[in-house]
Amino acid sequence: RALNFNAGPAALPEEVLLQAKKELLNFNGTGMSIMELSHRSKDYEAVHNGAQTQLRNLLQISDEYEILFIQGGASLQFSMVPMNLLTEGKVGSYVLTGSWSEKALKEAKKVGATSVLASTKDENYKSIPQINVDNLESNAAYLHVTSNNTIYGTQWQSYPDVSVPLIADMSSDILSKSLNINQFGMIYAGAQKNLGPSGVTVVIVKKDLIQASVDHLPTMLNYQTHSQNNSLYNTPPTFAIYLLKLTLDWVENQGGITAIEQKNNEKAKILYDVIDESNGFYSGHANLDSRSNMNVTFTLPDEDSTKEFLTLAKENGFVGLNGHRSVGGCRASIYNAVPVEHVVQLAEFMKNYRQKG
Ligand code: PLP
Repeated sequence: RALNFNAGPAALPEEVLLQAKKELLNFNGTGMSIMELSHRSKDYEAVHNGAQTQLRNLLQISDEYEILFIQGGASLQFSMVPMNLLTEGKVGSYVLTGSWSEKALKEAKKVGATSVLASTKDENYKSIPQINVDNLESNAAYLHVTSNNTIYGTQWQSYPDVSVPLIADMSSDILSKSLNINQFGMIYAGAQKNLGPSGVTVVIVKKDLIQASVDHLPTMLNYQTHSQNNSLYNTPPTFAIYLLKLTLDWVENQGGITAIEQKNNEKAKILYDVIDESNGFYSGHANLDSRSNMNVTFTLPDEDSTKEFLTLAKENGFVGLNGHRSVGGCRASIYNAVPVEHVVQLAEFMKNYRQKG
């Protein structure tokens, strides 16, 4: 298996892939692949409902919240959130912490009135801003944040206590650490980092927010449609949801969120220690108090050494270490499924490169 540090789609647990392989031709004695079953069949429904229940248990999501499976990626949620929740006379408030927050705001602007409560754009998104909740408009429909900034490698360490629904794009850190779901009105996440493959987006939303949803929307863009039909209004991405379920089985087998969180802290520390102990040879993009445990972003002293480092890394079997084209440098994405041993190998490689350089 490759030493896969891709940002998403990203590494999946080997156990998940092996299980999928094992039952690929004959799922649960049906003589068919899960992909060949009707989405109305009992066998598929058990997978669909099982994934919802397991996610509910793992993240301790109360019955006040609905768990939906929607297609269109996290990017479609950038539009669905304001279409459903940004009603007449209200303002959608956004915190800008990177390119994905900017994209979310851009879509909301097409739908209604918006405002920016805080932004760290001026400092190239090196940190998560301090939030003054008193600055939030009294007619704010919601406050939208991006919990982990995949491109810049920053992550919220705690969330502001606001009087309006807090909505978080958790695409790149959902299921990586424990969470107080009750702080949020809604959470959404494309699956392709910590939850499984691309193709399904998980939306966890408070039921009372959906009830206020607007009727004039196209059917598929209305949260009520997905909620009233248990995310089976039309054909769901059955294979992606099946892999999501296998990934949740894997998280349970690892010891649940607490064990996963501990491992993620350990992995991130290994790489940040190399950066911090390199006498400035490696320089982290994120400020210390905003560092992400999922995407470790760093630069080398100059362009030439960055290029050489990335070339050598590739030759040594490391995949996906190039920084996003908008920031440059390097990025190691260390989602749940990346084994500690792979992180240790990367740390050794970084130390060796520095000693030679
Ligand atoms: N939000 C964040 C934080 C992301 O990292 C990404 C993709 O990398 C997206 C949104 C977009 O997700 P999708 O490709 O599922 O639309």
